[in-house]
Amino acid sequence: MKDDCIFCKIAEKLIDTVIVYEDEECIAFEDLNKQAPVHFLVIPKKHIGSLNVISVSDSHLIGRIFCKIKEIAAKAGISEGGYRVVANCNRDAGQEVFHLHFHVLGGRKFSWPPG
Ligand code: 5GP
Ligand code: ZN
Repeated sequence: MKDDCIFCKIAEKLIDTVIVYEDEECIAFEDLNKQAPVHFLVIPKKHIGSLNVISVSDSHLIGRIFCKIKEIAAKAGISEGGYRVVANCNRDAGQEVFHLHFHVLGGRKFSWPPG
């Protein structure tokens, strides 16, 4: 755990959060500032700062997270309609929290290209 990381604190249950899924490797919770009817974040419990610092040894973890995203999306009822998975990396993408996370958004139509 990184002491000054808000998502590490969420993973440690030190912050009140609506958790939608959890296992030994990852946790999914509702975004505080929802941008769609369904908007949750999936994070590894292990602190990884951003996509820029993932390594090959994280491959299994990242792969499992995507399998979980599929399952949680199905439970949330957005599989058929569709959903968007977003990982913002660094300044130009607007990353605000520097603990790797995947936004999962659904329940409405999204435009492309993104803003
Ligand atoms: P980023 O811009 O880094 O990709 O997204 C960070 C996301 O984390 C934002 O959508 C923001 O609403 C969410 N967020 C920031 N702090 C908290 C928090 O304390 N709890 C929850 N549930 N979400 C948070
Ligand atoms: Zn962290």
